[in-house]
Amino acid sequence: MSTLDLFSLKGKKGFITGAARGIGKCLADAFTEMGASIAIVDIDIAEAEKTAKELAARYSAHTIAIRCDVTDAEDVGQMMDTFIKEYGSIDFAINNAGIANTYAAEEISSKDFKKVVDINLNGVFLTAQAAARQMIKEGKAGSIVNTASMSAHIINTPQTIANYCASKGGVLLLTKALAVEWAKYNIRVNCVSPGYMATELVAEMKDMHEGWISKIPAGRLGVPEDLIGAYLYLLSDAARYTTGTDLIVDGGYTSL
Ligand code: NAD
Repeated sequence: MSTLDLFSLKGKKGFITGAARGIGKCLADAFTEMGASIAIVDIDIAEAEKTAKELAARYSAHTIAIRCDVTDAEDVGQMMDTFIKEYGSIDFAINNAGIANTYAAEEISSKDFKKVVDINLNGVFLTAQAAARQMIKEGKAGSIVNTASMSAHIINTPQTIANYCASKGGVLLLTKALAVEWAKYNIRVNCVSPGYMATELVAEMKDMHEGWISKIPAGRLGVPEDLIGAYLYLLSDAARYTTGTDLIVDGGYTSL
């Protein structure tokens, strides 16, 4: 294997959750271009199908959309069955679906608190577990990358997102726990912690963008393309001895 092959995803197969749009879509686009076969997994099937068709046409690739609510274990099981019927085996999973809502901690309802934790943390667990079960069954190495956030490391201000910070802190330690448990199966589990990225998720908080930018050493919001290298490294054989780690990609925000 040449040194450049270390970063190759050619012929690898995997799914990305929350890939209909935003960060997930950008990663699906980049890694399909590099020769991976990727299932676009999302609760928004109309948008997921649009994305899958777009990528299949652009790269003449085997890209499909699978509807799945990552909080529903039955849905996740069916998603994995569909994936295996289509692709035959799995090499990687990116567990990226997530949401945010902003409420003062003293006012948030139990329902709104749970919703964020359910999608952002339970959803990551269920889809990571489904991928790992299949990898263990196949008896071959696999790479799982979860999307955490810089909110796993710091408390964002002035917005009030205690539930979001709690859920992402959970993803960080879940990643480490799974990495330790599944190392014996040669399954690596890592996460990426993005800073503020210009996607639809943060578009609703537009009035805060200027305040955020003033605190970002790089002087701008990130864009999903800024994350490709971090995910690529963790997915690829270049990271074969890297497990249980987190790559913060935030333009320096958490270093300030
Ligand atoms: P986005 O809102 O653009 O995309 C999220 C996708 O997840 C959507 O396509 C949505 O339909 C899907 N989704 C939501 N609930 C789902 C469910 N229950 N089951 C399956 N799919 C579901 O968001 P994004 O900015 O691309 O964020 C992607 C990930 O990155 C999230 O986990 C988010 O918390 C994390 N993140 C984002 C930022 C940022 O600034 N944008 C920063 C740090 C971390």
